[in-house]
Amino acid sequence: MSDRYAVIGRPINHTKSPLIHGLFANATGQHLEYGAIEGSLEAFEAQVHQFRDGGGLGMNITAPFKLRAFELADQRSERARLARAANALRFENGCITAENFDGIGLLRDIEVNLGEPLRNRRVLMLGAGGAVRGALLPFLDAEPAELVVANRDMAKAMALRNELDHPRLRISRYEALEGQAFDIVINATSASLVGERPPLPGQVLGTAQLAYELAYGKGLTPFLRLAREQGVGRLADGVGMLVEQAAEAFAWWRGVRPDTRAVIDQLTIPLE
Ligand code: NDP
Repeated sequence: MSDRYAVIGRPINHTKSPLIHGLFANATGQHLEYGAIEGSLEAFEAQVHQFRDGGGLGMNITAPFKLRAFELADQRSERARLARAANALRFENGCITAENFDGIGLLRDIEVNLGEPLRNRRVLMLGAGGAVRGALLPFLDAEPAELVVANRDMAKAMALRNELDHPRLRISRYEALEGQAFDIVINATSASLVGERPPLPGQVLGTAQLAYELAYGKGLTPFLRLAREQGVGRLADGVGMLVEQAAEAFAWWRGVRPDTRAVIDQLTIPLE
């Protein structure tokens, strides 16, 4: 029997993870099965245990179960602890280990695939949810000149600051961004999922070289449209992040890191 992995989420029918991991397995000559499980709000934990007890070696976790996956684990990486969320689990010697590769996946897409290193740049990240939590440690490790996090709910953003006191991390209200200049602006809110955009004041995107939208496959979202109107040179969506976080999980499980370029190309839907 092949080694077994799966992604679990609700709804799960939209998931690209089986396709991505199947392509990785082919490219690296690894023999594995990768399935998709519709998660149950009542029985998520039992589903994970059942998959593990049936011989499963690891799982990817997607919305809305990342927090519950983090909580059920026996061991947690530092970045999963800060995110308080897991997007990957590994089952080994009776132990469940939680990881969070979303942030490192985003960082790799920006730095490696898009060729925009964070070092000494001014970076603005919009939102303070799970995706931002997962990105903070890898982003600060990349030594930006400053990492500014803006969110509507200031209490949520300030809670991040209280958990991670770092000299390069600053929390801001949206209104206070007026007149500031950034090199890289990342929309890590879920506004695009409902056709909205974060309340950015004035021409705050005007100096940016890259505007990055975490949502993917949605074309020019309101945030990316605004970035284009304000003259941002480069626009990107989150498909590369999706593939890069998958590659990190694959490497963690299998000990071999797949090449991501061809898979990103295959999954990319042009912005327009
Ligand atoms: P959460 O639900 O944890 O957080 C959502 C955040 O969006 C909150 O900070 C919320 O602000 C903010 N928000 C929602 N609507 C608006 C709005 N209209 N204007 C301004 N802010 C808004 O979501 P996640 O962090 O898990 O995910 C965020 C996005 O990232 C989603 O679009 C998701 O699909 C995408 N994503 C992409 C991945 C990829 O691989 N490409 C991986 C993970 C996530 P407030 O606190 O003020 O309510």
